[in-house]
Amino acid sequence: MTNSPQTPPASPVGPKLTLAERQACLADIRADIGDCTRCRLSQGRKNIVFGVGNPEARLMFVGEAPGRDEDIQGEPFVGRAGQLLTKIIEAMKLKRSEVYISNVVKCRPPENRNPAPDEIETCEPFLLRQIETIRPEVIVGLGNFAVQTLLQTEAKITGLRGRFHPWPSALVKAKFETRLPEGGIQLMPTYHPAFLLRNPQMKRPVWEDMQKVMAFLHI
Ligand code: URA
Repeated sequence: MTNSPQTPPASPVGPKLTLAERQACLADIRADIGDCTRCRLSQGRKNIVFGVGNPEARLMFVGEAPGRDEDIQGEPFVGRAGQLLTKIIEAMKLKRSEVYISNVVKCRPPENRNPAPDEIETCEPFLLRQIETIRPEVIVGLGNFAVQTLLQTEAKITGLRGRFHPWPSALVKAKFETRLPEGGIQLMPTYHPAFLLRNPQMKRPVWEDMQKVMAFLHI
């Protein structure tokens, strides 16, 4: 089929979604998760912690898994680590409501243990769909689990943080068959706020990472 001069060629990833379409897509993803029993984390959880924020966010934060407070309230990053994340967002001259916040795993692991590989494998397609819907310009990956999942690597956060990684990589595209263009989003890995609570001297490198994000977004 040829396009007439009046009709711009269709974008390879489709048009950007309107706010209403994004809200509907996010509602669909949440409905698909349903009252999930796909993995053992369903047994101990109180609430599925889906994600929160602006469906049109230019900046998205991705953490690991809900903790106790998040499990009770059904919202990501509301405990002590979450309060620190909120302070970081506000230091970036943004409001929590302007960004989108989610986790790799949507249910609390018992005693806040690390999520197991099969639990991540089960849950990560929902995160991918959230990212496809929001299509932020930048994703900040918080800590090892988020970054290793997003980059499909076993490399450690210390070696990955502080520089932008074009996302999705060819590897991620092959695994998830996403329609997002390769490298269309910039991923900035940084330390997890819970790690910062235990290691306050690492707040400086995180702030340097966030300044790179602010410069990229012209904030
Ligand atoms: N830590 C995370 O990784 N996510 C949360 O939502 C809370 C704490």
